Amino acid sequence: MMKSRPMAATLALFTAAGLMLGGCSAPSGGDAGGEKKLTFMFRGGEDEKKAYEKAVEQFEAANGVDVDIIVTTADQYATKLKAAIAGKQVPDVFYIGPGDVQAYVQNGIVKDITEYVEGSDTIDLDNIWEYGVDSYRYDGKRVGEGAIYALPKDVGPFSFGYNKNMLEKAGIPLPDKDKPYTFDEFVAAAKKLTADTNGDGTLDQWGTGLNVQWNLQPFVWSNGGDWLSEDRTKVTVDTPEFAESLQWFADLQNVHGVTPSVAEAQTLDTYQRWMKGEIGFFPIAPWDLSTYQKLGFEWDVIPYPAGDTGETASWIGTLGVAVSESTKHPEEAVKLVEYLTANKEAQQSLVDAGIQIPNLKDMAETWAADTSTKPANKEEFLQIVKDYGRALPGGNTFNAEWYDELFTNIQPVLDGKQTAADYLKEAQPRMQEFLDAANQQAGN
Ligand code: CA
Repeated sequence: MMKSRPMAATLALFTAAGLMLGGCSAPSGGDAGGEKKLTFMFRGGEDEKKAYEKAVEQFEAANGVDVDIIVTTADQYATKLKAAIAGKQVPDVFYIGPGDVQAYVQNGIVKDITEYVEGSDTIDLDNIWEYGVDSYRYDGKRVGEGAIYALPKDVGPFSFGYNKNMLEKAGIPLPDKDKPYTFDEFVAAAKKLTADTNGDGTLDQWGTGLNVQWNLQPFVWSNGGDWLSEDRTKVTVDTPEFAESLQWFADLQNVHGVTPSVAEAQTLDTYQRWMKGEIGFFPIAPWDLSTYQKLGFEWDVIPYPAGDTGETASWIGTLGVAVSESTKHPEEAVKLVEYLTANKEAQQSLVDAGIQIPNLKDMAETWAADTSTKPANKEEFLQIVKDYGRALPGGNTFNAEWYDELFTNIQPVLDGKQTAADYLKEAQPRMQEFLDAANQQAGN
């Protein structure tokens, strides 16, 4: 498992649509001693757990509400939530991904909180990233517009980093934070970095080491390709732009040899190799920041290399905090959502824990200007959120089966045994079939 990858914090829970969801749910546990009681279910690692427990305590004290916490690991969350829903014990407040919105709305699991948050005096919607709020809007047809069904716990701009010391040692000019490498320039730099540094006949340093499932998107988009048509009805992976970028991705290993081989990556995965200083260029996400403060080398963040369009691209994840349709205390539940997503103190403690960038625009500007923590170019994360980040292609459709299908049989391309163009041509109809089924389920 790639530890640093999006598992950690920000992936949509691409599972909701597959659930057999019942109708309404029974109200959750009773109130003890007259105090209003809420259940909050979420997922995260130790740092995140601690930060949220603290935030919840502060909320309880300030609002006279008792909050029961149910916390799971990232891997267990979908299963546990599914069980809670099946058992009609839907938590009052819980995490959802953008990919869950349609199914949860259709099945009456999550509450429309538009009126609460728009009329609220404890939250300023305009100071929260539009991308985050819009990810949980749904107008009955399309996610991204309409009523609000959750507020963003965070937004997760997925960026790209490099090991400064390694580049300097190889005599490579440091990359420009405002001008992405072309594909060719990137390969040239990666080749220079790939080396047998101790002369024992085996490589111990590589230009990069990327995971196709989480890193292909920036290269496809910047090369003018995409997964879907604008109206999300047609799978568009069988284009020359898409094929060229996937082929380029596969060639990093097969032609240029600038990434650890499959065998080398099995000995020690690329995340570990990056942290040991063996890899020059590697993806960097907000939830990596606490861990990466302690790396034994200097590093910074840059735009992803860009294909034919010349414009860099990347994706941005998010998780939302929603309120159960069946909650007995909607006002308090929404207040908790607001507290977790937009309260200044709560946000600051999450940001200080190094697990996310601020949800609040004004706080984010202060954070980006702070040079006492790495990376220097924090602004890149904000640019992804504000300007060029896109949702993962599978995140805004009724389910992600069509999207996952691309990766299911992709290995021969990565191994150089099948061309990207051939593969995409045969994968497109399979993906289209899944997409049609998803759109049909969504009633589109
Ligand atoms: Ca060696």
